[in-house]
Amino acid sequence: LLRLDGATVRFGARAVLDAVDLAVAEHEIVCVLGPSGSGKSTLLRAVAGLQALDAGRIALAGHDQAGVPAHRRGVGLMFQDHQLFPQRDVAGNVAFGLRMRKVPRAEQALRVAELLDLVGLPGAQKRAVSALSGGEQQRVALARALAPRPRLLMLDEPLGQLDRSLRERLVAELRELFQELGTTVLAVTHDQGEAFALADRVVVMREGRIAQSGTPLEVWRRPADEFVARFLGFDN
Ligand code: ATP
Ligand code: MG
Repeated sequence: LLRLDGATVRFGARAVLDAVDLAVAEHEIVCVLGPSGSGKSTLLRAVAGLQALDAGRIALAGHDQAGVPAHRRGVGLMFQDHQLFPQRDVAGNVAFGLRMRKVPRAEQALRVAELLDLVGLPGAQKRAVSALSGGEQQRVALARALAPRPRLLMLDEPLGQLDRSLRERLVAELRELFQELGTTVLAVTHDQGEAFALADRVVVMREGRIAQSGTPLEVWRRPADEFVARFLGFDN
């Protein structure tokens, strides 16, 4: 579904994405791990069409995306800093992408209710987003990203502000939901436990490059190098 060939983004002299090759198959759930500044968000922004490449190519379903604007790519992106619309209530935020796609109102209301149940905010439709906690806002942003059921869903630290028990429950439910809907997912997380529980495949990034890509078990059992081993917390 998604293919990057030599994808490169430079800021000044520095390649923040450095000739990245990556293929994500239809229905696959891929989690990107890596230290702060390794280029994870830049990778998602490039695929979403919010960051131009300096070299290389990105293709979706076989079509080169050079020059294709973000809203034409058919991908969903949940930002790390979630950026909700403060003037709209919870339902207005979650239904945003559905209104854009002219989904009938009754269906919108149904999907909003389902998603709010899923993220643990049942009945929150009319609440003002400005009055929600950071973790609650994050869950609204997650529901908003899921609502239009994009062919490729990209999540940047979707559960970062949530407590452990909620995160564990959501990871299991999200995996089930993605499998049920056949959603292809590219998700960034800092939390290895989360990546290993959610992903079919884990990609570890280092300084704009892919240090390792493999199933959670492969990466866990045979880290490709010392960097990956250290990053996973093995002490040598
Ligand atoms: P984190 O885990 O902290 O979110 P990340 O892996 O998502 O990190 P990116 O946000 O992709 O990292 O950034 C990679 C590098 O590119 C960082 O060093 C960052 O400072 C730099 N960078 C990102 N955006 C810009 C920009 N618009 N201009 C200049 N440098 C940038
Ligand atoms: Mg980031």
